[in-house]
Amino acid sequence: MAALQERSATGATRAWVNSADSHVLEPDDIWDATLPERLAKRAPRAEREGEREILYIDGEVVRRDPIAYTEAIRPPGARDPRQRLVDLDQEGIWCELVFPSRGLWVPLIRDPELVAACCRAYNEWLAAEFLPVSPRFIGVATLPALDTDDALAELTRSIDLGYRVALLPAAAPPGRPYNDPTWEPLWAALADAGMPVCFHAGSGSDPIVNRGPGGAIINYVETFFPVQRTLAQIIAAGILERHEQLHLVFVEGGASWIPSMMDRMDEAYRQHDMFVHPRLSAPPSEFLVRQVSATFQHDLAIRATIDVTGPDPIMWGSDYPHLEGTFGHTQAALEQAFAGVDPDLRFAVTTDNFTKLFGGPAPRAHAGADS
Ligand code: MN
Repeated sequence: MAALQERSATGATRAWVNSADSHVLEPDDIWDATLPERLAKRAPRAEREGEREILYIDGEVVRRDPIAYTEAIRPPGARDPRQRLVDLDQEGIWCELVFPSRGLWVPLIRDPELVAACCRAYNEWLAAEFLPVSPRFIGVATLPALDTDDALAELTRSIDLGYRVALLPAAAPPGRPYNDPTWEPLWAALADAGMPVCFHAGSGSDPIVNRGPGGAIINYVETFFPVQRTLAQIIAAGILERHEQLHLVFVEGGASWIPSMMDRMDEAYRQHDMFVHPRLSAPPSEFLVRQVSATFQHDLAIRATIDVTGPDPIMWGSDYPHLEGTFGHTQAALEQAFAGVDPDLRFAVTTDNFTKLFGGPAPRAHAGADS
């Protein structure tokens, strides 16, 4: 199946792609406007102080970002869905999964009542104010992760609001790893609902774990370890085997680590066989290829990755509008990543895998910002 292509004014053709990793920026007062005051004052809150924007959660300072950084990741389309369609058209992106920005900090809250209230407020705001503007936006419902009953209640509410994709923190809450049996009713409910569950890199863990030399690179690399831990916990505990309809999406962790994770898990399964409990009916890599997706923006090794995994577990994401993403150079990033890759494989990874998992309308040959 060929990608739908469009000829630009310069005569070059480009293919529309779908992004499985994009972010909305919530209004500054999203919590104040909806939560009771006693909870709202403890919700994630950004305040400008001099040259810095300070992020507070429950009274604690979590980040101190330079204003130049916070401005760079907030083009008008981050907040405004109509302006966002202009940006998507410019970049050649058709549909996108819409993840939170401030909502990604909610899993750092340790009070179950506050987490549940913040998730509910975010899901209701996104469904009411942002998603109705275009079917090209596919919202992700954020679920509270401290308590399974709270997660189940929010899942039910989210389905009623029209969501068909869910979000959990990439790093499981302290003392509640994802192979803990208390999660089981949620896995069953997600599988029954046919709702893929996403784990976005960087969520659920402290963003600054190292303040020494090299901290910027070290801390960025650190966001990637919980993604791997979570994947191993869920597959090794037999959760994907028990729930064949459950699908996991690891967002913004890159994709080229997937083959080495397959090797690592299969080596244990095969060569530590006597220790492996629960028993699995197939090597872990088989569950991964069948029921897991991973998104990347820039991976240079994507061609070699697809050689090992096939196209099914790999998806592309722009990470709009963040600095790690491709905003402003999406088509160049795609050309670089997919140089020498078979066009059908490229179509699967950039477009079709997304449509099969999340739905969304087919691209039109000539899009407009009013689409
Ligand atoms: Mn992202």
